[in-house]
Amino acid sequence: MSLISDNLQAVLDDIWATEQRFDRPSKSVRLLAVSKTFGAEAILEAAQHGQTAFGENYLQEALEKITLMQSNAPELHLEWHFIGPIQSNKTKPIAEHFDWVHSVDREKIAVRLSEQRPATMADLNICLQVNISGEESKSGVSPEDVVALALKISALPRIRLRGLMAVPEPTSDVAQQRLAFRHLRELSEKIVAQGISLDTLSMGMSSDLHAAIAEGSTMVRIGTAIFGSRNYAK
Ligand SMILES: *Cc1c(COP(=O)(O)O)cnc(C)c1O
Repeated sequence: MSLISDNLQAVLDDIWATEQRFDRPSKSVRLLAVSKTFGAEAILEAAQHGQTAFGENYLQEALEKITLMQSNAPELHLEWHFIGPIQSNKTKPIAEHFDWVHSVDREKIAVRLSEQRPATMADLNICLQVNISGEESKSGVSPEDVVALALKISALPRIRLRGLMAVPEPTSDVAQQRLAFRHLRELSEKIVAQGISLDTLSMGMSSDLHAAIAEGSTMVRIGTAIFGSRNYAK
Protein backbone atom coordinates (compact mmCIF):
# COMPACT_ATOMS: atom_id res chain seq x y z
CA MET A 1 0.00 0.00 0.00
CA SER A 2 1.41 3.35 -0.90
CA LEU A 3 1.48 6.24 1.50
CA ILE A 4 -0.51 9.39 0.97
CA SER A 5 2.68 11.42 1.24
CA ASP A 6 4.33 9.38 -1.55
CA ASN A 7 1.26 9.70 -3.76
CA LEU A 8 1.12 13.43 -3.10
CA GLN A 9 4.74 13.89 -4.13
CA ALA A 10 4.21 11.76 -7.25
CA VAL A 11 1.19 13.90 -8.27
CA LEU A 12 3.13 17.13 -7.71
CA ASP A 13 6.08 15.80 -9.75
CA ASP A 14 3.65 14.81 -12.50
CA ILE A 15 2.02 18.28 -12.48
CA TRP A 16 5.41 20.03 -12.67
CA ALA A 17 6.66 17.75 -15.48
CA THR A 18 3.42 18.33 -17.40
CA GLU A 19 3.73 22.11 -17.00
CA GLN A 20 7.18 21.86 -18.60
CA ARG A 21 6.03 19.54 -21.35
CA PHE A 22 3.29 21.95 -22.46
CA ASP A 23 5.29 25.17 -21.95
CA ARG A 24 3.23 26.28 -19.00
CA PRO A 25 4.98 28.56 -16.48
CA SER A 26 6.44 26.65 -13.56
CA LYS A 27 4.01 26.35 -10.60
CA SER A 28 1.13 27.85 -12.60
CA VAL A 29 -1.08 24.85 -11.77
CA ARG A 30 -2.32 24.47 -8.19
CA LEU A 31 -3.16 21.14 -6.65
CA LEU A 32 -6.51 20.77 -4.92
CA ALA A 33 -6.52 17.52 -2.93
CA VAL A 34 -10.03 16.05 -3.10
CA SER A 35 -10.54 14.34 0.24
CA LYS A 36 -14.22 13.36 -0.02
CA THR A 37 -15.00 10.04 1.73
CA PHE A 38 -11.56 10.04 3.43
CA GLY A 39 -11.15 10.84 7.10
CA ALA A 40 -9.37 13.61 8.95
CA GLU A 41 -6.28 11.34 9.39
CA ALA A 42 -5.83 11.26 5.61
CA ILE A 43 -6.16 15.05 5.42
CA LEU A 44 -3.71 15.45 8.28
CA GLU A 45 -1.13 13.25 6.55
CA ALA A 46 -1.37 15.27 3.33
CA ALA A 47 -1.30 18.56 5.27
CA GLN A 48 1.79 17.52 7.19
CA HIS A 49 3.49 17.07 3.83
CA GLY A 50 2.68 20.59 2.76
CA GLN A 51 -0.72 20.26 1.05
CA THR A 52 -2.98 23.16 2.08
CA ALA A 53 -5.99 23.13 -0.28
CA PHE A 54 -8.64 20.44 0.16
CA GLY A 55 -11.81 19.80 -1.86
CA GLU A 56 -15.00 18.30 -0.47
CA ASN A 57 -18.31 17.33 -2.13
CA TYR A 58 -20.64 16.46 0.71
CA LEU A 59 -21.53 19.25 3.08
CA GLN A 60 -22.17 17.38 6.34
CA GLU A 61 -19.06 15.25 5.95
CA ALA A 62 -17.00 18.32 5.07
CA LEU A 63 -18.21 20.36 8.06
CA GLU A 64 -17.24 17.57 10.43
CA LYS A 65 -13.73 17.39 8.98
CA ILE A 66 -13.27 21.17 8.90
CA THR A 67 -14.27 21.44 12.56
CA LEU A 68 -12.02 18.55 13.51
CA MET A 69 -9.02 19.94 11.64
CA GLN A 70 -9.53 23.43 13.05
CA SER A 71 -9.65 22.19 16.63
CA ASN A 72 -6.88 19.58 16.32
CA ALA A 73 -4.44 21.38 14.03
CA PRO A 74 -5.28 25.11 13.93
CA GLU A 75 -1.66 25.91 13.00
CA LEU A 76 -2.12 24.29 9.57
CA HIS A 77 -4.41 27.03 8.14
CA LEU A 78 -6.03 24.78 5.58
CA GLU A 79 -8.02 26.14 2.63
CA TRP A 80 -11.39 24.48 2.01
CA HIS A 81 -13.02 24.20 -1.41
CA PHE A 82 -16.61 23.07 -1.90
CA ILE A 83 -16.87 21.21 -5.22
CA GLY A 84 -20.15 19.26 -4.95
CA PRO A 85 -23.72 19.98 -6.04
CA ILE A 86 -25.32 22.77 -3.99
CA GLN A 87 -28.88 22.77 -2.68
CA SER A 88 -30.15 26.30 -2.17
CA ASN A 89 -31.17 25.60 1.45
CA LYS A 90 -27.57 24.58 2.24
CA THR A 91 -25.76 27.73 1.14
CA LYS A 92 -25.35 29.29 4.59
CA PRO A 93 -22.92 26.75 6.07
CA ILE A 94 -21.02 26.80 2.78
CA ALA A 95 -20.75 30.60 2.93
CA GLU A 96 -19.60 30.39 6.55
CA HIS A 97 -17.02 27.60 6.34
CA PHE A 98 -15.38 27.51 2.92
CA ASP A 99 -12.77 29.62 1.11
CA TRP A 100 -13.80 28.60 -2.39
CA VAL A 101 -16.91 27.21 -4.10
CA HIS A 102 -16.33 25.63 -7.54
CA SER A 103 -19.85 24.43 -8.25
CA VAL A 104 -22.00 27.56 -8.57
CA ASP A 105 -24.32 27.05 -11.53
CA ARG A 106 -27.21 29.47 -11.05
CA GLU A 107 -27.81 33.03 -9.99
CA LYS A 108 -29.92 32.14 -6.95
CA ILE A 109 -27.01 30.21 -5.39
CA ALA A 110 -24.56 33.06 -6.01
CA VAL A 111 -26.96 35.63 -4.50
CA ARG A 112 -27.46 33.52 -1.39
CA LEU A 113 -23.72 32.94 -0.95
CA SER A 114 -23.15 36.68 -1.35
CA GLU A 115 -25.82 37.54 1.23
CA GLN A 116 -24.70 34.84 3.66
CA ARG A 117 -20.94 35.36 3.51
CA PRO A 118 -20.00 36.87 6.89
CA ALA A 119 -18.61 40.39 6.48
CA THR A 120 -15.80 39.47 8.88
CA MET A 121 -14.42 36.89 6.44
CA ALA A 122 -12.46 37.40 3.23
CA ASP A 123 -14.52 37.37 0.03
CA LEU A 124 -15.68 33.90 -0.97
CA ASN A 125 -13.93 32.75 -4.16
CA ILE A 126 -16.34 31.42 -6.77
CA CYS A 127 -16.06 29.34 -9.92
CA LEU A 128 -19.02 28.75 -12.21
CA GLN A 129 -19.50 25.09 -13.04
CA VAL A 130 -20.19 24.57 -16.74
CA ASN A 131 -21.93 21.48 -18.12
CA ILE A 132 -19.35 21.24 -20.86
CA SER A 133 -20.38 17.86 -22.28
CA GLY A 134 -24.09 18.68 -22.24
CA GLU A 135 -24.99 15.66 -20.18
CA GLU A 136 -28.64 15.59 -19.07
CA SER A 137 -27.98 14.54 -15.50
CA LYS A 138 -24.92 16.70 -14.82
CA SER A 139 -25.01 19.88 -12.83
CA GLY A 140 -23.58 23.02 -14.33
CA VAL A 141 -24.75 26.00 -16.34
CA SER A 142 -24.97 25.41 -20.09
CA PRO A 143 -22.13 26.83 -22.23
CA GLU A 144 -24.68 29.13 -23.91
CA ASP A 145 -25.69 30.71 -20.61
CA VAL A 146 -22.38 31.03 -18.79
CA VAL A 147 -21.35 34.49 -20.06
CA ALA A 148 -24.68 36.03 -19.01
CA LEU A 149 -24.48 34.34 -15.61
CA ALA A 150 -20.93 35.62 -15.08
CA LEU A 151 -22.03 39.18 -15.92
CA LYS A 152 -24.94 38.94 -13.48
CA ILE A 153 -22.96 37.72 -10.50
CA SER A 154 -19.60 39.42 -11.02
CA ALA A 155 -20.69 42.57 -9.17
CA LEU A 156 -22.16 40.86 -6.10
CA PRO A 157 -20.53 41.85 -2.81
CA ARG A 158 -18.55 39.45 -0.61
CA ILE A 159 -18.07 36.92 -3.38
CA ARG A 160 -15.34 37.08 -5.99
CA LEU A 161 -15.76 35.40 -9.36
CA ARG A 162 -12.44 33.69 -10.09
CA GLY A 163 -13.17 31.44 -13.05
CA LEU A 164 -14.83 28.35 -14.46
CA MET A 165 -14.96 24.68 -13.48
CA ALA A 166 -16.02 21.59 -15.39
CA VAL A 167 -16.26 17.83 -15.01
CA PRO A 168 -16.35 16.59 -18.61
CA GLU A 169 -17.87 13.26 -19.56
CA PRO A 170 -15.18 10.64 -18.80
CA THR A 171 -13.26 9.35 -21.80
CA SER A 172 -9.85 7.72 -22.20
CA ASP A 173 -9.38 9.48 -25.55
CA VAL A 174 -6.92 12.27 -24.81
CA ALA A 175 -7.95 14.26 -27.88
CA GLN A 176 -11.56 14.25 -26.62
CA GLN A 177 -10.40 15.25 -23.15
CA ARG A 178 -8.48 18.18 -24.61
CA LEU A 179 -11.44 19.28 -26.72
CA ALA A 180 -13.68 19.60 -23.67
CA PHE A 181 -11.06 21.51 -21.67
CA ARG A 182 -10.29 23.79 -24.63
CA HIS A 183 -14.00 24.58 -24.83
CA LEU A 184 -14.01 25.63 -21.17
CA ARG A 185 -10.94 27.83 -21.71
CA GLU A 186 -12.61 29.50 -24.69
CA LEU A 187 -15.71 30.24 -22.62
CA SER A 188 -13.51 31.82 -19.98
CA GLU A 189 -11.86 33.97 -22.69
CA LYS A 190 -15.34 35.13 -23.80
CA ILE A 191 -16.11 36.26 -20.26
CA VAL A 192 -12.77 38.07 -20.00
CA ALA A 193 -13.58 39.82 -23.30
CA GLN A 194 -16.64 41.27 -21.53
CA GLY A 195 -14.34 43.05 -19.08
CA ILE A 196 -14.49 40.58 -16.21
CA SER A 197 -11.06 39.47 -15.02
CA LEU A 198 -10.71 35.76 -14.29
CA ASP A 199 -7.63 33.87 -13.16
CA THR A 200 -8.85 30.34 -12.57
CA LEU A 201 -9.64 27.32 -14.72
CA SER A 202 -10.59 24.51 -12.34
CA MET A 203 -10.21 21.49 -14.59
CA GLY A 204 -8.51 18.11 -14.53
CA MET A 205 -8.96 15.09 -12.25
CA SER A 206 -6.84 11.97 -11.64
CA SER A 207 -7.53 10.49 -15.07
CA ASP A 208 -7.36 13.60 -17.26
CA LEU A 209 -4.96 16.06 -15.61
CA HIS A 210 -2.44 16.03 -18.46
CA ALA A 211 -5.04 17.09 -21.02
CA ALA A 212 -6.31 19.74 -18.60
CA ILE A 213 -2.85 21.20 -18.00
CA ALA A 214 -2.15 21.17 -21.75
CA GLU A 215 -5.29 23.30 -22.23
CA GLY A 216 -4.58 25.85 -19.53
CA SER A 217 -5.84 24.47 -16.24
CA THR A 218 -4.75 26.52 -13.22
CA MET A 219 -6.17 24.12 -10.62
CA VAL A 220 -6.41 20.36 -10.87
CA ARG A 221 -8.75 18.54 -8.48
CA ILE A 222 -7.13 15.22 -7.59
CA GLY A 223 -8.66 12.59 -5.30
CA THR A 224 -7.90 8.98 -6.26
CA ALA A 225 -4.26 9.52 -7.24
CA ILE A 226 -3.54 10.92 -3.76
CA PHE A 227 -5.86 9.08 -1.38
CA GLY A 228 -6.62 5.86 -3.30
CA SER A 229 -9.95 4.62 -4.60
CA ARG A 230 -13.08 5.63 -2.75
CA ASN A 231 -15.30 3.15 -0.98
CA TYR A 232 -18.80 4.61 -0.99
CA ALA A 233 -20.31 1.56 0.69
CA LYS A 234 -18.48 1.97 3.97
C1 LIG B 1 -14.40 13.44 -6.83
C2 LIG B 1 -14.12 14.65 -7.61
C3 LIG B 1 -12.83 14.94 -8.06
C4 LIG B 1 -11.63 14.01 -7.87
O1 LIG B 1 -11.73 12.93 -8.74
P1 LIG B 1 -10.58 11.82 -8.86
O2 LIG B 1 -10.92 11.11 -10.12
O3 LIG B 1 -10.68 10.94 -7.65
O4 LIG B 1 -9.27 12.52 -8.93
C5 LIG B 1 -12.64 16.14 -8.74
N1 LIG B 1 -13.65 17.00 -8.97
C6 LIG B 1 -14.91 16.75 -8.57
C7 LIG B 1 -15.98 17.74 -8.85
C8 LIG B 1 -15.19 15.56 -7.90
O5 LIG B 1 -16.44 15.32 -7.52
